Amino acid sequence: NTPLHELDPDVAAAVDAELHRQQSTLEMIASENFAPVAVMEAQGSVLTNKYAEGYPGRRYYGGCEHVDVVEQIAIDRVKDLFGAEYANVQPHSGASANQAALFALAKPGDTILGLDLAHGGHLTHGMRLNFSGKQFDVVAYHVDSATGLVDMAELERLAKEHRPKVIIAGWSAYPRELDFAEFRRIADEVEAYLWVDMAHFAGLVAAGLHPNPVPYADVVTSTTHKTLGGPRGGIILAKKEFAKKLNSSVFPGFQGGPLEHVIAAKAVSFKVAAGEEFKERQRRTVEGARLLAERLTAADAREAGVNVLSGGTDVHLVLVDLRESELDGQQAEDRLHEVGITVNRNAVPNDPRPPMVTSGLRIGTPALATRGFTAEDFAEVADVIAQALKPAYDAEALKARVSALAGKHPLYPGL
Ligand code: PLP
Repeated sequence: NTPLHELDPDVAAAVDAELHRQQSTLEMIASENFAPVAVMEAQGSVLTNKYAEGYPGRRYYGGCEHVDVVEQIAIDRVKDLFGAEYANVQPHSGASANQAALFALAKPGDTILGLDLAHGGHLTHGMRLNFSGKQFDVVAYHVDSATGLVDMAELERLAKEHRPKVIIAGWSAYPRELDFAEFRRIADEVEAYLWVDMAHFAGLVAAGLHPNPVPYADVVTSTTHKTLGGPRGGIILAKKEFAKKLNSSVFPGFQGGPLEHVIAAKAVSFKVAAGEEFKERQRRTVEGARLLAERLTAADAREAGVNVLSGGTDVHLVLVDLRESELDGQQAEDRLHEVGITVNRNAVPNDPRPPMVTSGLRIGTPALATRGFTAEDFAEVADVIAQALKPAYDAEALKARVSALAGKHPLYPGL
């Protein structure tokens, strides 16, 4: 039982350095968050030692009486949280949940209709090099280049023309709410299943700040580590009629033993997500993104060639369009990194630059909201970002403002 620092100083040093990075910089990657200590405690527990192939009450291993309790708590809580008839909490990640969901609804060679990756979709929604793109016949819909909004007319036209087995609603980089009722209407018209991937906005749904896709979709997948603020992992929610197919698609279809320590951590995070404090945090998340969009659409930002896709945001992120800036996505990401703010570069629709460079940034507020940022703090960080993206910027002054904000909201004190 030698502690990590003694047994493996190399790994321990890298973990310590990562903790310091998280504490001393401002995390604004839209898909990231800070899990509560109790979630990490559950994830670091002895449950990692247990094999539990199967589902609660129907396992292929002995000694599952305690992990059964944990997994059932996680299932019951997440069903309650989102009003779902069925839940599977075993997917190891968002991509694993999506793989299991897709194979439960369709078979290789079937047609699927998803949002183009370059327009904000996810790899698992039909990207060429992903299982979804390799094994299914993919048709992609897009955002309208003038409005930045999903082109629902194109979606309907493509659905009628290609009669997909599955329509996928969901995104990794899109700043607005989707019209789930309209997706449902189109899916019904062409007799397609509707799968919603709410990985990004699940926390907002749990807090009642975003429409809930569960009543509209046949199947809903999510990650648990983005706005939802839990451990890294995936979940599947669905109507009862899909239960058997989904369960067998996850196990034994794609996975072996479930990660019961992660499932315990998911259960804890669902409890947190049902509370008032979580709702208040999600309100600050959305408010922070709105303040950021406002600051980046002010006259001085526009003069620096900075634009905000769709003109604003309804959610936890802002998409910055740098096509008129002297900075490309990589340079802007580096510029913000230099002053202590972590974001990721992101392709804008019809991006003239290659995917490793891009002409945009995706900037999110969930992690800072978890850290306690108020509207005033978000206004300050928004101004730091706006200043950093100008041709002339004072790196030292901006670094000092970032340090002050980080110091004002200590992360994981005592760790
Ligand atoms: N679905 C969406 C919409 C995502 O944005 C992501 C992650 O970025 C995933 C699925 C995949 O999640 P994971 O990285 O856990 O596989």
